[in-house]
Amino acid sequence: MIVIGDDDKNINKQYNNIKVLMYHKIIDEGKSTSSQWISVGREEFRKHLMLLDKWGFTPITFRDYLLFMKGQIPLPKKPVILTFDDGYEEVYKIAFPMLKDLGWNAVVFVIGDPKIKIDLWNNKLLTGNPSLLNSDQIIEMHEAGLEIGSHSMSHLYLPNEPYTNAWYEISWSKDELELLIGSSIQSFSYPYGAVNNHLKQMVKIAGYKIGCGVYTGPPKFGQDILDIRRITIPGGTSTVNFAFKMLTPYEYYEYAGSKVLHRKNGNSNANEFEHSRKKQKQTELI
Ligand SMILES: [Zn+2]
Repeated sequence: MIVIGDDDKNINKQYNNIKVLMYHKIIDEGKSTSSQWISVGREEFRKHLMLLDKWGFTPITFRDYLLFMKGQIPLPKKPVILTFDDGYEEVYKIAFPMLKDLGWNAVVFVIGDPKIKIDLWNNKLLTGNPSLLNSDQIIEMHEAGLEIGSHSMSHLYLPNEPYTNAWYEISWSKDELELLIGSSIQSFSYPYGAVNNHLKQMVKIAGYKIGCGVYTGPPKFGQDILDIRRITIPGGTSTVNFAFKMLTPYEYYEYAGSKVLHRKNGNSNANEFEHSRKKQKQTELI
């Protein structure tokens, strides 16, 4: 790990702007499904890693960030957080070896219910092989240093659930996963990126330190650690577009764009969650 220089005057500014990328599935090229959104090709992902390396980024985890905030570890100069939602087994088979080769970490959000072996929430035509990570794969990735986070028990759309169900999905998945890996689960990813204040409070009370949304949180990293905005990296992202997302304040542009959208719709009081739902419809699934 690169140690921070004492003379780095921009240190705080830098860490306030950690980009958090969201992936789902990494697939072998040629096995492309009808949805490019959810599946990034193996070579495409390799290229992303090479570009991140070339541009000086070092992937960290939320765990690292929390330790840094407690003053226990330094962070690299250009940290980035790579996240994978849903826990597809290809994350283990394809992405994990590539990350290992580079000595890099990532955050993998998995389903807490061990009885759920396949993706039940997306159309199989969109996802191809719907197999999810098994317990051994999750444990191996945890032991190799990747952070395991919760993506709820069964990937329900939590804002529509009664409180007791939402609480079960959020808190029980933490317990199940902690029993599985023998370590604390500190991060939660809201299924479908669907988050509201009630859910955020539940996530906090359940004992998570980090909540990940998609399009809803503030653009500044750390400003709302229960609704961290993530940058989606869909399949087919061009190098120019990837560079735009990584090398410019892209999350601020996206946030500003969502505000303009609300104003155009004459809906200035609408919260960001509504924007998330519109985005979700556009992109079909998260
Ligand atoms: Zn999901």
